[in-house]
Amino acid sequence: MPLRHDRGRCPEGGGDPPAPLDDQAPALRRFLLDWWQIHGRHGIPWKLKPAGLPPADGEPLDPYGIWVAEVMLQQTRLAVVLPYWHRWMAAFPDLPALASAGEHEVLLRWQGLGYYARARRLHHGARLLWARAKAGVGDPWPRDLEGWQLLPGIGRSTAASIVSSAFDQPAALLDGNALRVLARLTAHPVPPQRTLAGFWRLSEALLDRRRPRAFNQALMDLGATLCTPRSPACGSCPWSRCCAAYAAGHPARYPLKDQSRPIPFQVIGVGVVLDDSGRVLIDQRLPEGLLGGLWEFPGGKQEPGESIENTIRRELREELAIEAEVGEELVVVEHAYSHKRLRFVVHLCRWLSGEPQPLASQQVRWVMPADLDAYPFPAANARIIEALRRRPDADGSIPHRHPGENRAAA
Ligand code: SF4
Repeated sequence: MPLRHDRGRCPEGGGDPPAPLDDQAPALRRFLLDWWQIHGRHGIPWKLKPAGLPPADGEPLDPYGIWVAEVMLQQTRLAVVLPYWHRWMAAFPDLPALASAGEHEVLLRWQGLGYYARARRLHHGARLLWARAKAGVGDPWPRDLEGWQLLPGIGRSTAASIVSSAFDQPAALLDGNALRVLARLTAHPVPPQRTLAGFWRLSEALLDRRRPRAFNQALMDLGATLCTPRSPACGSCPWSRCCAAYAAGHPARYPLKDQSRPIPFQVIGVGVVLDDSGRVLIDQRLPEGLLGGLWEFPGGKQEPGESIENTIRRELREELAIEAEVGEELVVVEHAYSHKRLRFVVHLCRWLSGEPQPLASQQVRWVMPADLDAYPFPAANARIIEALRRRPDADGSIPHRHPGENRAAA
């Protein structure tokens, strides 16, 4: 749908990221803000005042909900984040509530969002800020980029988004959406990751210092709704007259990418170990790493030439010091992270001997399948729980199933 508002005269040329585009910036700002006024995403709850109204320029907002949302959005789209954000705010409505919560509860509320280190950093950051407030520093919230970047997991772009959203501070951002838009605007001839400093300069040069909150939001909205990764809607774009990628006829070709390396693939043998009373064995991962602190069913990587049954038997011995009979396949779950693909081959097992020891985990626990919801699990394990509960004979016996049955993709 073409734009109907008056866009004025478009400045000449597409520009080059290292140059600040000073002559073009005023027109680009005006085009973008005019478009955003009509077509922007104005209902994002953490960008509104408590009564649901948008803030006036310069009017501060409570940074707590903005900070939570920005951390959630670091690896996840807005539509996915929204229900999690509402649930989180109901559970931890303010800084003291989050600071005083236990890690178990925090991870449980984050369950399903992935990249759990973000939840732990948010929790840690809340404790740092709340300790500051209790020490009598006054307002615990940093007002500048440097203060926010001292918190765990907050980089320059996230900090800029927080201070511009909460305090209308003039801080340029460069998240994935903004970088894609700017790389297309300039038809940048190399992958933008190689010249990030130039794009930061470009983002700073374009920023509207009188309305930084509105400008940053407009830039992100443009990237999220029109200048999308695969199908940019250039016909509706306020920058189409100025966009070098559009002028070149192949906007989706930009940003250029470095040749991607093949993503490693691993098969993981997993044992769902049941005892005679129908309890199942789970263990809590060590605190470090991507999924640190979450619970899971025990297992590990299949070695070359090893059968999956032997992998599970070996892992149960090495990680828990137990002997188990490996029974039928329960389910196969495929799961892709950004850096690797995993296939979890899950077998039902019967505990035979040995008191389970947390040799490679924080703790181990026997629990009834009905009680597993009280523990935060990674997404792939949630699929295993579903399969466990679907068993017609979920009573501790090991049923017969044909290998290959019950395949699922996480
Ligand atoms: S004209 Fe097309 S490619 Fe250029 S910024 Fe707009 S949507 Fe993106």
